[in-house]
This record gives sequence, structure tokens and C-alpha cells, in this order.
Amino acid sequence: MKKEKGLLIVLSGPAGVGKGTVCRALRETENNINYSVSATTRAPREGEIDGVNYFFKTKDEFKEMIEQNQLLEWAEYVNNYYGTPLPYVEQSLNEGNDIILEIEVQGALKVKERYPEGVFLFLMPPSLKELRERIVGRATESEDLINQRMTVAKEEIEMMKQYDYVVENDEVEEAVKRIEAIVTAEHCRRDRLIHKYKELVEVDQ
Ligand code: 5GP
Repeated sequence: MKKEKGLLIVLSGPAGVGKGTVCRALRETENNINYSVSATTRAPREGEIDGVNYFFKTKDEFKEMIEQNQLLEWAEYVNNYYGTPLPYVEQSLNEGNDIILEIEVQGALKVKERYPEGVFLFLMPPSLKELRERIVGRATESEDLINQRMTVAKEEIEMMKQYDYVVENDEVEEAVKRIEAIVTAEHCRRDRLIHKYKELVEVDQ
């Protein structure tokens, strides 16, 4: 029997909300969700590994990827480019595996145009105050860059309206549980499953 296609799950939210931490925790939990490693032109932070956290690229290499249609989406974010390599996403979905993309909102909206059947999750900070503290706590960025990130973050929160689910990131473990519950529920949606039961239930079309 043909395997169901996997779910394309997009996790977005403002900078500093903890998308990276939540995704890392999701990766460490046993749940069969593949993780898409993005390409970026920003410099690696301490401890980041090429091919694990990101594929670190020069601007020219990144432009080449755009021209060769190797990216599902890409966006410019605080003076750097970020993009999702397409082949691994397509491969995962075709093999029936779920895949999660941790990306910012402009990119998420582009994915929504191309894959409206995707599952769009918005990770919400408990408050703006908390968000700023988290960005400052990272301490890898200058005051100027922190302010730029806060301005972008406020605009990003406004985009929440475009998403299917809102997950508050109060505690990482709780956020992970909520995401897993959403994924389980999405697998049980009638419109995703009805074709599986077409011998038992009359299906239009
Ligand atoms: P950071 O520099 O903190 O790792 O990431 C900055 C922002 O870029 C975050 O909001 C992150 O989710 C987003 N981002 C990471 N990878 C991608 C990607 O492939 N595409 C898009 N559009 N955004 C990404």
C-alpha cells in the first residue's frame, strides 16, 4: 500500500522566542520528525557546526543556490540570508516522513503559498519583556543588534494571525509536548485520512 505523505511542519516565531531550543529538544525526543537544516550567510556562533546547525555559505554560494532553484524559500533577515534546501524536504515528504522547518515569518508565509497543506505553528513568548531578556541573555550580540531584533520581533508577532496553531514557550518541555500533540492530531485529521478508508467510506472525487 502506498505510504501516506509526511507532514510539512513549520515552526516560526520572533527571534529569541526559543525556536532553536524547542527544535533541539524536539530533535532529541523520539518522535520520527525529520529536521530541515537551513543554509545561511551569517557567521557561525560558538559551538555551531556546519551541516548540523546550519549549512554556512558565502553570499555568492547562497545566490548560486537561489539561481539553481535549490531553496524551497529564502529570506533576508537582519542583513543575512537564510533559506531552506528543497531536496531533503521533498525526500522526507515523499518517503512519508514528517519534517519540521524552523524559520522566520517571511519564509514561513512563502512556504504556505507553496504548501498550503502544511501545518503552521507560531511559537509565542510569554511576554515582550521576557523576549528581550532572552535576546540579551544570549549575549552574543551588540546592543544595536538587540534593538534591531526587538523591532523585527514586534512585527513578527503581528503575523501570528496567519498561523494554524499558537504554542506558548513558557517551558521548553511543555512546548515540545504541545507540538507533538498537534502533530499527532494532524495525522488524525479526516481530510488526511479519508482516502485510506475509501473501501469503507464513500469519498467524493
Ligand atoms: P539565527 O541567526 O538566530 O540562527 O536565526 C535568525 C532567524 O532566521 C530565526 O528567526 C530563524 O528561525 C530564521 N531562520 C533560520 N533558518 C531559516 C530559513 O531557512 N529560512 C528562513 N526564512 N528563516 C530561517
